[in-house]
Amino acid sequence: MILSSLKHRLIVSCQAPDGDPFRDPDSMARFAEAAALGGAAGIRANGPEDIRAIRARVDLPVFGIQKSIASDGRVLITPSVKSAQAVVEAGASIVAIDCTARGRRYGAFERLREIRNRLRVPVMADIATVEEAIAAVEAGADTVASTMRGYTDETAGVTRFEPEFIAELVRCVPVPVLAEGRVSTPEEAASALRAGAHAVIVGTAITAPRRIVQVFAGAMDRERRRLVTGQVAGIDLGGTNTKYGLVASDGRLLSEGVAPTPWSAGREALLGHLKRIARECVEGGGAASIGIATAGWVDPSSGEVVYATGNLPGWTGAQIAAEVSEAVGLPVAVENDANALAVAEFRFGAARSARNFVVITLGTGLGGGCYIDGKLNHGSHFFANAIGHMPVEPDGAPCTCGLRGCLEAYTNAAALLRRAPQFANAEQLIHAANGGDESARAAISAQAVYLASGLAAVVQLLDPELLVLSGGLVQNNTLLLTRVREELSRRLTVWDQRRLEVCASGLGYHGGVLGAAAVAFERC
Ligand SMILES: [Zn+2]
Repeated sequence: MILSSLKHRLIVSCQAPDGDPFRDPDSMARFAEAAALGGAAGIRANGPEDIRAIRARVDLPVFGIQKSIASDGRVLITPSVKSAQAVVEAGASIVAIDCTARGRRYGAFERLREIRNRLRVPVMADIATVEEAIAAVEAGADTVASTMRGYTDETAGVTRFEPEFIAELVRCVPVPVLAEGRVSTPEEAASALRAGAHAVIVGTAITAPRRIVQVFAGAMDRERRRLVTGQVAGIDLGGTNTKYGLVASDGRLLSEGVAPTPWSAGREALLGHLKRIARECVEGGGAASIGIATAGWVDPSSGEVVYATGNLPGWTGAQIAAEVSEAVGLPVAVENDANALAVAEFRFGAARSARNFVVITLGTGLGGGCYIDGKLNHGSHFFANAIGHMPVEPDGAPCTCGLRGCLEAYTNAAALLRRAPQFANAEQLIHAANGGDESARAAISAQAVYLASGLAAVVQLLDPELLVLSGGLVQNNTLLLTRVREELSRRLTVWDQRRLEVCASGLGYHGGVLGAAAVAFERC
């Protein structure tokens, strides 16, 4: 009866913790009155004193609870029949109790039955999982609420409101489902109804002025740092060296540094290394945020390394953004290094006016980053853009990745030097080619044939307007660019209509730092 009057309506939770300026029954009653005037259909409240004050002021049904400290030192919702009786006598129309696995260890189901039988009021089960909801309904709960999701040991990883969890509850239990817990915006409340919620309970977002102010002040703090400093720190964690610096919003490098990467020392040492550099950047001149580019595949939303090769042992699973952000107290964005370079070209470099382009880095390895319709492409599992490991020779030369015939194995520095072994390094070889040395020129031409074969596949798939080549093997190497253009024109359909540009990156030695900074400018 009470529940049917609440269908698709808003219930406002009016509670304040001890020490809060609003922690008194009269304040809670005023919040309830404002909620009623604003259109709420029900109130959730804690303790007989608050409930009595609220009932004296508003005529809405009250979901009553009694928060108490249990023997394990943590809060338990309505721990005894006596406490339930007190809130019902104060005017609650329905009683909520903790029916999580922990709540059950404190006898939740026996209490649930006794409250229904003796006090003759419906019982709402506060739960955190589907299994807990099903068990509570079997024990007689009249309704379930997602209140405890994210607040139990088993669900501690949940940090946001999940409409998909509400939808699953609706599928699995035959009683009305109330959405409660971390509903922080009107849009989320509406999404709960779309997911099938019977009603939505909102607390903190409406009745906790202190928290609401914190949210506003926090957002303004971040913007103020941006306005005042106008600069971010970029850190490029490479396999050998870590380059870093402060970067202005127009891409100017304001300061720079380099430190050897402790690549073999494991995850904690690498994180410590990044934190030290981040602190140095922040203390050295003030940064609004920090961008980090790293080898390995990265989940850009969490800033976690989802996979790294043996070049950085232990790096898989590193929570870079969370760790560094906590250490320096600034927002941190993390991206794969080749992807970060693409962001730098898009923001500061050759691709500023491009929508579809591919950046290729050519040195010890071959990496890439690609933009599709103005957005960096990550793929479904963050593994996209592994251009170096596209096959160009079936069962060909072995590659560092463990496969054979990869583009990287035919185009990297080692492959180039194998074609002209008289040169000590790639720089010497390129210098000799520029001076007319025939064997050096032949080595670069052979490299260009393979590079163009791989890039032709990329171009056929994506139809970009621009290819940006960067990295050590592209510096001062106009022969490579010319030969790649020639080879591409022979290998691509409708070449004349594509107007595909192939250029060398202008970002130079600090491209990786600019990339990390560009990621920070875009995401923090
Ligand atoms: Zn490979």
